[in-house]
Amino acid sequence: MEQADSALLVEDIRKSFGNLEVLKGVSLSAQKGDVITLIGASGSGKSTLLRCINLLEVPDSGRIFLGNEEMKLTRNRAGMSIPADRRQVDRIRSRLGMVFQSFNLWTHMTILQNVMEAPVHVLKKPRKEAEAQAMALLEKVGIAEKASIYPAHLSGGQQQRAAIARALAMDPAVMLFDEPTSALDPELVGEVLRVIRQLAEEGRTMILVTHEMGFAREVSSEVVFLHEGRVEERGTPAHIFEAPHSERCQKFLAAHL
Ligand code: ADP
Ligand code: MG
Repeated sequence: MEQADSALLVEDIRKSFGNLEVLKGVSLSAQKGDVITLIGASGSGKSTLLRCINLLEVPDSGRIFLGNEEMKLTRNRAGMSIPADRRQVDRIRSRLGMVFQSFNLWTHMTILQNVMEAPVHVLKKPRKEAEAQAMALLEKVGIAEKASIYPAHLSGGQQQRAAIARALAMDPAVMLFDEPTSALDPELVGEVLRVIRQLAEEGRTMILVTHEMGFAREVSSEVVFLHEGRVEERGTPAHIFEAPHSERCQKFLAAHL
């Protein structure tokens, strides 16, 4: 099943919260350099799927491989699905970069400290090296001059670019973006999309949840339309945006384009 350049494989993931079955058997496969965009109505399970990939939620069943490494799940005495190996969870999370709608920067640290934190404390990089790398990443996302400032003094677009730099500092195998521009004022959306587009062009593997359909069309290798916890339709941007078969997908796009 696995191939040499498989970055992420998600097989038949199911997840319920109580009686509510949110993911009803979802599969994804990203080769290195792929950008997979998840679209779908609010509540269709997009965030839950991303959260299952980095084990912020534990899937009830199904398999997840990052590269060739399978995430080991087991069951506790109550029959609940749990990670079998905490150290594996930490290791795998350190290889996944997550960017949330709400930025989630550490408010008591400067932008530079935010970006250096994981390389210094998780990867045990020397501070000087981590600082040079962090400055290069802040340069890359266009906010090097904000390095010594606290997040509260930055615009939403700048905070989100800092959050992207922080995720990149771990050089993740896969970046997960959950509606990275949804909390931004419209005039700030472009500067964040530009950074994400640059990452796509550089060949970063990404799973991206977005309502920016024009952007999805430009950057995606595959677009996946989720409806009530199932993949209702999937395909190339040309297929999804020009000739979707599913009526639900057509309606969704008509409302969002
Ligand atoms: P989307 O990101 O597509 O809007 P979500 O994955 O956030 O959808 O949510 C899918 C469904 O799962 C929603 O009905 C939501 O209320 C429910 N849900 C998500 N997380 C939880 C949770 N931790 N506990 C209970 N219900 C949840
Ligand atoms: Mg969501």
